[in-house]
Amino acid sequence: MSDPTKNTEARPWIVIGSLLFIAFAILMAVLEQFNMTSDSIPNDLKKEKSQAPPIVIHNTNTNEASNFAKFFALLGSKRIVDMSHSFDETTIYWPTDKPFRWEKNRWGPNANGYWYASANYAASEHGGTHLDSPIHFAEGGNTTDQIDLERLVGEALVVDIREKCNTNPDYLLTVKDLKDWEQTNGLIDPGAILVIRTGWSIHWPNKKAYLGTDQPGDVANLHFPGIGPDAASFLVTERKLEGVLIDTPSLDYGQSKDFKTHRILNGANIYGIENLANAEQLPIRGAAIIALPMKIKGGTGGPVRVMSILPEPIKGN
Ligand SMILES: [Zn+2]
Repeated sequence: MSDPTKNTEARPWIVIGSLLFIAFAILMAVLEQFNMTSDSIPNDLKKEKSQAPPIVIHNTNTNEASNFAKFFALLGSKRIVDMSHSFDETTIYWPTDKPFRWEKNRWGPNANGYWYASANYAASEHGGTHLDSPIHFAEGGNTTDQIDLERLVGEALVVDIREKCNTNPDYLLTVKDLKDWEQTNGLIDPGAILVIRTGWSIHWPNKKAYLGTDQPGDVANLHFPGIGPDAASFLVTERKLEGVLIDTPSLDYGQSKDFKTHRILNGANIYGIENLANAEQLPIRGAAIIALPMKIKGGTGGPVRVMSILPEPIKGN
């Protein structure tokens, strides 16, 4: 991805170094002005900041008067988790799809003396953390813009099959897994948003480990866990869901040739969200999910920003 405004290559490095130093000095002065240097960050937040991104954790205790704090007070929560992977050149797409494209358009000080930056992007609807609208595998199903917002928020019920997927990359969620879950956690509520936690996101963004292949077009060697068609049928006929989220590339497992699980779930107007991040941060019950896809009119899916609001405060607060 080229930067058409890039014109520094011919300049001596000493000029570039000086400019960087000046920019850094200005940034530090601005931060000092707004009291945002590291000394002003409470110790507990410093500790959180040292954790690896993209886990985003906010603490409402630092400024009770802020609107942000009010938002969390309304929700009775103190912790938020980012469950979307970033979109960039490393974002994983299906082997037959084009990768995410992002190109700087204008980038730098303009003729009027102020900074201006903008870029163009393009992508398949079905890559990165994204929505599968019901129309994806069901004629007449809801398109992305037709899914009601109230269907995209709710309690997350987390079914953890990490242990089984750990020893079998082709593992399929079974009806027994769902019934065992219900034995411990109660019935899957009508209108639930189900999160299938396979643990597969630890491989992101390593294509070979995450997909089973890093070769474009190589769908024969896809290996990752998914939801068995029997389990999908059980969820459709015995329970009533709004959506199913999974931390793998697809609701079906990698070796699927007929995408039966997609057809069963989408056929019941249930949406999917794939390539979920940070599912391991969620409790089995009690976390709120907010999953907001780009409102593509007539879309079969689209990039989606998923966040979870956890019921428990950060330990020690
Ligand atoms: Zn998809």
